[in-house]
Amino acid sequence: AQKKRLPSTVGVFSDQLEKQIHRELLLKDGLSQAVEKDQLHLVYQPIIDANDCQIVSFEALLRWRLNDEMIPPDEFISIAEQYGLIRKIGQWVLEQACQTASTWAQRHPIAICVNVSVAQLEDDDFVDIVEAALQSSQLAPEFLHIEMTESVFTSDIGLLAEQIKALQDKGVKVSIDDFGTGYSSLSIMQDLAVNIVKIDRSFVERIDTNGYAIITAVMHMARALNYSVVAEGIETQSQMNTLRSLGVDYLQGYYFAKPLPIDQVEQLISAEQAPKLLAES
Ligand code: C2E
Ligand code: MG
Ligand code: MG
Ligand code: MG
Repeated sequence: AQKKRLPSTVGVFSDQLEKQIHRELLLKDGLSQAVEKDQLHLVYQPIIDANDCQIVSFEALLRWRLNDEMIPPDEFISIAEQYGLIRKIGQWVLEQACQTASTWAQRHPIAICVNVSVAQLEDDDFVDIVEAALQSSQLAPEFLHIEMTESVFTSDIGLLAEQIKALQDKGVKVSIDDFGTGYSSLSIMQDLAVNIVKIDRSFVERIDTNGYAIITAVMHMARALNYSVVAEGIETQSQMNTLRSLGVDYLQGYYFAKPLPIDQVEQLISAEQAPKLLAES
């Protein structure tokens, strides 16, 4: 029976593999021209102050439309990283985000959070690229936050620590995204002096069970190490209440707002008063 089944299993497997490789190459080719073809745009998800629900920043999230299909970043970012395309795309994101945020910051003290891959952060030119984006947009550095994912642990921690320091010396803030999901969260907290920790959505999701204790522990560490804490992925009022009671500084999630197109952000920003998001249940 073994002998009979084996070849067909291999056949199915290689069929799938072939499709996967084909898709990957298709996306890689598409991505290499996405900037020139104007297929990329950013959407913006607010982050609010847990105390008064005022918007303190927006996280820029990248969107890619390839022939009427929206390809999710969870699929194309890793391909961009793999094929050396993330630097060019990342630079476009930075320039675009700073340009946009600069007009917002003229009205209200609102920052922009930009996601950055480790491959970008490790680039010798990264700090210069950030500097140039700030220069040409006239955005004040304290309004730029760089979010890096915790997969940093696979890389040269010494180099990353230097890059982070260089950014902070320029006045830019740095946060660790998806905190708690990497394999060495604690050593990262020890080795990298960031400004902000973003608690991963998976802990917020399970805040009624184990998530509670974990977030409590993160809060203790963050206080001791002087980090601000953002909780991401808040979807319910009850999650918000618990996170507030734990002293989390900033909140983000579908409960308040999904990532918004630029015109909707502009509507929020155009108000005389600093915009608030009071989520009604
Ligand atoms: P992330 O930086 O952790 O961003 C949070 C993701 O969760 C976003 O997905 C956001 O739309 C989604 N999200 C926000 N609130 C909620 C919620 O309440 N519930 C649920 N279920 N989801 C929520 P998105 O936009 O698909 O981005 C996925 C990931 O792709 C990001 O995770 C980030 O790691 C990466 N990414 C996005 N834009 C960029 C970029 O410009 N550069 C780089 N290097 N990575 C990016
Ligand atoms: Mg992020
Ligand atoms: Mg995140
Ligand atoms: Mg994430």
